[in-house]
Parts: sequence; structure tokens; C-alpha cells
Amino acid sequence: MTAHPLFDISGRTALVTGSSRGIGLALARGLAEAGCTVVLNGRDGDRLARAAAELPGGLVHTAVFDVTDGPSVAAGIAEVEERVGPLDILVNNAGMQLRAPLLEFTDSDWHRILDTNLTSAFLTGREAARRMTRRGRGKIVNVCSLQSEVVRPGIAPYAATKGALKMLTKGMCADWGPQGVQVNGLGPGYIETELTRPLVEDAEFSAWVRGRTPAGRWGRTEDLVGGLLFLVSPAADFVTGQVLYVDGGMTSVL
Ligand code: NDP
Repeated sequence: MTAHPLFDISGRTALVTGSSRGIGLALARGLAEAGCTVVLNGRDGDRLARAAAELPGGLVHTAVFDVTDGPSVAAGIAEVEERVGPLDILVNNAGMQLRAPLLEFTDSDWHRILDTNLTSAFLTGREAARRMTRRGRGKIVNVCSLQSEVVRPGIAPYAATKGALKMLTKGMCADWGPQGVQVNGLGPGYIETELTRPLVEDAEFSAWVRGRTPAGRWGRTEDLVGGLLFLVSPAADFVTGQVLYVDGGMTSVL
């Protein structure tokens, strides 16, 4: 039996920001396995080359640029389109976490997390959409978070960036929908990666996550792939401005 043609994305070109490891790398792998040409992005060329070597060969490229820096983003995306081809898919995944009580949060950390988690999606989204809207088609997925909806003590700035990213997703949908570009969010729950390592290693917190999640476990990076493949496929051509939470049910229960 073959997959339904509505889910066929083979031959598309996709850029995944922050894909040297973790969720970004898993999403890139999923796109490559679905037959896309994939461009990995991060700030370290050697790390990206090692990540690219892990993915199915032939269709994988790398692009080193910092997603918080406007001129670098503009040059990076222009160079990707010239070298690899027109982008059909952009996944804004690069992000970071800083945990501290608000009263101890510094100005520079505030700007750093805002730049990395929110401004980055504006910069890369705008740059890609300039091209996608001209061509009349494109899919953008912003990696939001369960913290786009809820917050815990000590992560207010992170939640603020992810809540704002959800609204940026809806705004991009409003602005670019008429030109054939769909923009959605993918909202991971607690997923085991380098970003969450301190939480995974905290036995009490780790048990809390398992107990609080209807699925009864931490998420794995591969858990996010199906949701992404749906959002960037023709099956989702009339789905835009939504956030799909892939969180084992956590955002749905008290
Ligand atoms: P990791 O810390 O494991 O990976 C982050 C990635 O982003 C790395 O590849 C890093 O590459 C890249 N990156 C960071 N800053 C920049 C930058 N300025 N320019 C380019 N690339 C950058 O994080 P995760 O995989 O856990 O998270 C990925 C996304 O998923 C983030 O947006 C995060 O907020 C979100 N998320 C994660 C959850 C989780 O439980 N893990 C839950 C909900 C959301 P390099 O350092 O090589 O540049």
C-alpha cells in the first residue's frame, strides 16, 4: 500500500533552522526521509557537517548563519536559494531556554532569549516569505511550545517568547495567506534534548513530567515528525494560523 498523495512532499526543498541537534535535527531527518532536499542551519559549521553526515545522503546541505542577525539571515537565505534552489518549506526551530526567577533575570538575558526565540522567526520568516509570496506558494512552521499556552515559575521570559511566537504565527498567516503561504505552529511538550537535560536529570521534576502527561512519558524528538510532515504537506493546504500541540496531552489537562 502506498501513502495517500496528499502527504507526498518528495522533491520539496526545506530549510530547518537550529538543526545541528535535538528537535531540529529530528525534523530535518523526517523531511529528508520523506524525500525533501533539506538544508541544516546552525552557528557552527563543523557541528552541522557532523549532523548532515547522519542524514540520508545526497539531499542534505548546510547553511551556517545566526538567526538573530538580520543581515546574516538575509545573506544566508539568498545563498541557500542560489545554491540549493527555491525554498518550499521553512521550519523556524532555533531556540534556547534560560531558567531564572524574573527578579533575577538580567537585561542582557532578556534580549538574548527574545532575539533567539522570537526575533529569529520574524527575520527568517520575512526573508523566506519575500520569496515564497512572489512564487505564490510556501509552508512555514514555527516551533512554539506547550509554554505558548501555560507557564511555570522560573521560565516567564521563555514562555513570553513562545506565547508571542504563537501570535506571530497567526499574524504571518493573516499577512501571507492571500499569497499562498501557509504558516502554522508546532508545539512540543517536554521532549528529551540538550535543552531539557537539567530537567531530565532532576529525578523529581522528571517524575512530575511523566505524572502530569496523559501519555505518561517524556516526548522523544521523533514524536514531532508526523505533525510537521502533516503541516508541510498538501493535506494541510487549508490549515493555516494553527498551533498543533504534540505534547502527550499535557496542555489539555490540569
Ligand atoms: P537544543 O538546545 O537541543 O537545540 C537548539 C538548536 O538551535 C541547536 O541546533 C543550535 O545550534 C540552534 N541555535 C540556537 N541559537 C541559534 C542561533 N542564534 N542561530 C542559529 N541556530 C541557533 O534545543 P531543542 O532541540 O530542545 O529545541 C528546539 C526548539 O524546540 C526550540 O525552539 C525550543 O524552544 C523548542 N521546544 C523544545 C522543547 C523541549 O522540551 N526540548 C519543548 C518545547 C519547545 P548551534 O548551537 O549549533 O548554533
